[in-house]
Amino acid sequence: MTVSAVPEQSYVFQSVVDKTGTQVVGGKGIRIDIERDGKVYKDVIDAITGAAVGAIGWGDEEALEIINRAAADSVYSYPCLMSNKSAEKLAKFYIDNSPEGAFVSALWCTSGSESNENALRIIRQYYLERGLPKKLKLISREDSYHGFTLGAQSISNNPRIEKFKDYFMDQKNICLTMPSAYTYRNKLKSESEEDYAVRLLKILEDKIIAEGADTIAAIIVETLPGSSLGTTPPPKGYLKGIRDLCNKYDIIFYLDEVMCGTGRCNPNGKLNCWENFLEPQDAPDIQTVGKTLGSGYVTIAGILIGPKIKDAYLQGSGTVVGGHTYASHAFNCAVALGIQEKIQRENLTANVFKMGNLMGEKLKKALLSEDNIAGDVRGVGGFWSVEFVADRDTKKPFEPSQDIAGRVKELCFQNGLNVMGMGVTPNGSCSDRILLAPSFIITEDDVDQIVEKVVKSVTELTKALA
Ligand code: PLP
Repeated sequence: MTVSAVPEQSYVFQSVVDKTGTQVVGGKGIRIDIERDGKVYKDVIDAITGAAVGAIGWGDEEALEIINRAAADSVYSYPCLMSNKSAEKLAKFYIDNSPEGAFVSALWCTSGSESNENALRIIRQYYLERGLPKKLKLISREDSYHGFTLGAQSISNNPRIEKFKDYFMDQKNICLTMPSAYTYRNKLKSESEEDYAVRLLKILEDKIIAEGADTIAAIIVETLPGSSLGTTPPPKGYLKGIRDLCNKYDIIFYLDEVMCGTGRCNPNGKLNCWENFLEPQDAPDIQTVGKTLGSGYVTIAGILIGPKIKDAYLQGSGTVVGGHTYASHAFNCAVALGIQEKIQRENLTANVFKMGNLMGEKLKKALLSEDNIAGDVRGVGGFWSVEFVADRDTKKPFEPSQDIAGRVKELCFQNGLNVMGMGVTPNGSCSDRILLAPSFIITEDDVDQIVEKVVKSVTELTKALA
């Protein structure tokens, strides 16, 4: 099976995991129906919800009511001419449910890529407003993913599409990299997590000094990387260290929470993933979100803006350059708000945090205690990965041609489970993984079924490889 290909039998011009034109044709709760090769596979457990998108489950009755109400009540407004009540309310909801003072404004977009694209423009204008036009350079991480628009590609460093990078990159001269924080592979045995963080921060600070702090605009990090490094939690002290460097050198601290944010990884109804790792006063200056915000029912993502950035605009030109026709779209915002209020009322973030961690712990216990191809199981709350290795002791990756992640994904599918498979990167920086990001409504029984199916699939492939 190929990992990604343009399906010959599909009208949609998009690579998918096989050439058979696989389609989702229905779904209810955490189960979906998938059509493949003319056959419908019913009630497949959806452990990835598209790409960590679904929060409230599919075909939710209340979501349908929310959508009907929003359609009846929403009047479109062109964002450059006037705002609308739903966009305002959604912004207030996010700001009120984040630590006090962390964010003061939001801009709603239609995708995570568009949000990152706009965040880059907002940052560039921020320094213009302050009379610092030389501050243009952006530092993001090796093995990172921020989207597929040209600006977002320029700050992404995804070895899987490295061969296309030169053609996709828009701003080569200003996009710099720092090492990723990949504890499982790159922390030395002799180091503590804190020492590893200090080592990474030293490399970053050396880079800032070498480039000239007066040229650096922002440091960009996924709080919990998903499709790039597979739910790798930041080593202790790492994010705080970046925050401190940003304060020291007058640089914007920019977190991308498109995949890990909006309640996927938090206990107690908190929205921001960074609240697991940072104190409120260390909030990012700007943050992008998406995916679970609309839970797959509407196309919505966004940018949260901290007081420092807004103040500079207010004290400067008083103008925000830009304005997409469908920015802060009234209907999308009304639906997203209804869904977020439902999540809050039903305490679903606490549920996915508890159930997700249970799933992770059970997977760890079952996979790592047996002799098989699983090398690491890691994650936080409702966001987990299993990484596969040819040798557990040396962590040697499999050969890319073996397509281990694709084969585990396929076995999971045959066993009634939908997961995402991510192949070994061509430069070997990261080996095969599957990604799990279930809906927030997941139950303990669902957890047991997911664990049983993953373990069965991994065991089957381990035997086949022996
Ligand atoms: N940023 C991160 C961390 C992501 O994981 C993604 C998508 O997976 C994006 C940005 C891009 O979002 P979208 O696919 O909605 O454009």
